[in-house]
Amino acid sequence: MKPANKVFSGYGTSVFEVMSRLAIEHGTINLGQGFPDEDGPEDIRRAAAETVIEGPNQYPPMMGVPALRQAVAEHDRRFYGLDVDWQSEVMVTSGGAEALADCLFGLIDPGDEVVLIEPLYEMYLPLVRFAGGIPKLVRIEPPNWELPRQALAEAFSERTKLILLNSPHNPAGKVFEVDELDFIADLVKAHDAYAVCDEVYEHLVFDGRAHVPLMTLPGMRERCLRIGSAGKTFSVTGWKVGYVTAAPEVLSPVAKAHQFITFTTPPNLQSAVAFGLGKDDAYFSGLSGAMQAKRDRLTKGLEGAGFEVSASGGTYFLSVDIRSVGFDGDDEAFCRHITTEAGVTAVPVSAFYQESDVNHFARFCFCKQDAILDEAAARLARHFKGG
Ligand code: PMP
Ligand code: GLN
Repeated sequence: MKPANKVFSGYGTSVFEVMSRLAIEHGTINLGQGFPDEDGPEDIRRAAAETVIEGPNQYPPMMGVPALRQAVAEHDRRFYGLDVDWQSEVMVTSGGAEALADCLFGLIDPGDEVVLIEPLYEMYLPLVRFAGGIPKLVRIEPPNWELPRQALAEAFSERTKLILLNSPHNPAGKVFEVDELDFIADLVKAHDAYAVCDEVYEHLVFDGRAHVPLMTLPGMRERCLRIGSAGKTFSVTGWKVGYVTAAPEVLSPVAKAHQFITFTTPPNLQSAVAFGLGKDDAYFSGLSGAMQAKRDRLTKGLEGAGFEVSASGGTYFLSVDIRSVGFDGDDEAFCRHITTEAGVTAVPVSAFYQESDVNHFARFCFCKQDAILDEAAARLARHFKGG
């Protein structure tokens, strides 16, 4: 038989899937794959259910139902002061994941260079490579995840088509500072490049900080494609409803990719998300406040179990240094070990790097019920401290 596509067949099964399967097999508390264990607001779910009964249930418009595109434009105005034309500047996708694929496939030509910051959300490299892009990787590393500015500047060249920037960052939990964003914006402008901004965790930013889209910086409105996800914003990760905001000339090629990939997204979910985006400010601040409390709870629990915990300013995730509890294997061995021996599952941070040399940190997800977080910490404390 002839070989299948070399890019995709060269990868193993997703670390999230592997660890979730292992968690199910061993009946553990799964703090690996990032998904909340409580569904989002009932009124939003009800709106989706009602639309299935009442209709419409046929293909929605390719760019998304007008109500959702209008709601995204209004959301971007309300939270970021962006002036967005819903008809020409918003596109609905089947998740942030499809939005990423559309942006990368719509913009990259074979041989184009693409700047990425490791650790990387796992689909980034396969998609860039599939599009024929040449990845230029820059690293941030735990525990401080500092941006190496000189290395970043050196990663840009006249062949740079775009930078893919994830803030708040999975798995680092890093929320890029405004001066870091300024630095990135200057590089993008100086090299006449685009910025694909994966902002799916935009409403999961803690400690009173506000999410700042790169798109809001001077000169960046026309160069950025801003990606959001209803899965994260409304705690319904299985819904896979995403949206892209970009200037018309930039969105247009990306819409071409979308039309050949999914073309559209289930209509009931779109209208329910439109309803959700209209919720009052208290919903959004309540979400980040609740998640911040969970971050604090798990941080305290893990510290009590003897771990050094890296600060997390956003997302669903925090990382721990596995050496701090005396574990002397690598992070993969650690995640398997705590799954089989302590009844708790995490994911190895090395899975997010191309080379697995940053291999003594594990990522834990804190978007779980308080009692679950407490029990996970207690199990780890019993295992590592015997107490
Ligand atoms: N980007 C990042 C950084 C993510 O963590 C996720 C969610 N796993 C996605 C994109 C994909 O979002 P969605 O589930 O909406 O496709
Ligand atoms: N974004 C989620 C995480 O980082 C997982 C998504 C997936 O399983 N593909 O855990």
